[in-house]
Amino acid sequence: MLLTITTTHTPADDLSFLLHKHPGRIQQVELSAGKAHIFYPEVSADQCTAALLLDIDPIGLVRSAGPKGNDFALEQYVNDRPYVCSSFMSAAIAKAFSSALNGRCKDKPELLDVAMPFVAKLSVLPVRGGEGLLNALFEPLGYTVAATQHPLDPAFPEWGMSRYFTVELTNTITLQQLLSHLYVLIPVCDNDKHYWIAKDEIEKLLDKGKAWLETHPARELIVRRYLKNQRKLTNLAFEVLVNEDEMEEETDEKTEAEENPVEPADPKPRIHDLRLLAARNELLAAGAKRVADLGCGEGKLMKLLMAEKQFEFILGMDVSYRSLEIAKSRLRLERLPEKQRERVKLIQGSLTYRDRRLEGFDGAALVEVIEHLDEARLAALERSVFEYAKPEVVVVTTPNAEYNVKFENLEGGKMRHTDHRFEWTRKQFEAWGTSLALKYNYDVIFKPIGESDPAVGSLSQMAVFCIRVKDAGQFI
Ligand code: SAH
Repeated sequence: MLLTITTTHTPADDLSFLLHKHPGRIQQVELSAGKAHIFYPEVSADQCTAALLLDIDPIGLVRSAGPKGNDFALEQYVNDRPYVCSSFMSAAIAKAFSSALNGRCKDKPELLDVAMPFVAKLSVLPVRGGEGLLNALFEPLGYTVAATQHPLDPAFPEWGMSRYFTVELTNTITLQQLLSHLYVLIPVCDNDKHYWIAKDEIEKLLDKGKAWLETHPARELIVRRYLKNQRKLTNLAFEVLVNEDEMEEETDEKTEAEENPVEPADPKPRIHDLRLLAARNELLAAGAKRVADLGCGEGKLMKLLMAEKQFEFILGMDVSYRSLEIAKSRLRLERLPEKQRERVKLIQGSLTYRDRRLEGFDGAALVEVIEHLDEARLAALERSVFEYAKPEVVVVTTPNAEYNVKFENLEGGKMRHTDHRFEWTRKQFEAWGTSLALKYNYDVIFKPIGESDPAVGSLSQMAVFCIRVKDAGQFI
């Protein structure tokens, strides 16, 4: 498998100084299960390409700490490892380009901090999660991603597509940043058995990733996959990455709780449809054109929004990759005509981190999202939505805990969903919304949703926040 790195920085052959590899020679480094060859297919002042070619020995792979097949007897001999970019490519990067990866350049140290235009091409990259995952991993780091997915067998198109992609990543960054992104994210895409999993992997991950991983919206997935789902190691890595009190609980498993709600069967019409309609109507009434569905889940609100011409651009964001995949297929995004397709975008991210992709929207909705966060994490969500993203209108819905007594099959004191961290009374919700509005310069009104009872209020509750016009006072 082949990795090429091309730059058009002037002079382009500065790349060879940064890589500490002479452009006129073919060089080799030994790996535990094969060899890596480094050479330059093109070198000129305008354009320079360095190539890293891995030559993995399948037998050596088995003898070293290679992947031990569980699935069928010969798997350890017959597998894709020699032919794809995997953790071996990361090992090769670390060995062949160790100075560049560690930010050292003997002859021209001034180049270390220069952001250069790079195109990195991975000839075969297995991606569990498809193009959506590739984008979720590389786009937040500023890359333009061009990916070509390969069929399982071109002779049998009915077999469908494989998980193998040819990937081209374009970005203007330092070489060290580029290499550290590739080092960490190649095995994350692959998500196969790594031949390394040891405690020092945490150090490697933190060392190569700390500068950009802390703020990456897919941080949890990256850490989890990189450490191959080993809970203990993952937790350890998180403890180093974030303060204890910042630890997040949100995971992909969230949606499983969504699919097994404890919430009793909804009376007709379905309460959830009422919430979605209420949120859509508020966004329509506010005249919003660019709207964001924050915590979009499986895209139910987005479907309603897409039916309205008023909404020129609709963004769906969720922390759960699985939900996004369901949303993508439910909304049939792949089958939409191009113009419609450009109108809708799904991104993975966490609402508890500032995210520039959420800026510039007229309206946003958080339908049944806040109660999925620990109360201690709400302040972080408030800041990222109301202080940084700052849409003109924000609609928030949440269950009304007082109404729970009316659900016959819900034991007293229990919540409607296993994944709910809290459910608020009307008073609690109003106190939260009012102080939030005051703090971030919004006006807020509260509205009931669904059937209402004089004693306990409505099934669900909604707050509609409208940004205050700046310095309105001067016109009074
Ligand atoms: N709004 C959707 C889904 C509600 S379920 C609907 O009404 O149908 C709550 C959703 O919030 C889940 O999809 C969950 O993954 C998402 N979520 C929880 N914490 C989040 C966070 N920190 N950032 C973004 N989404 C989050």
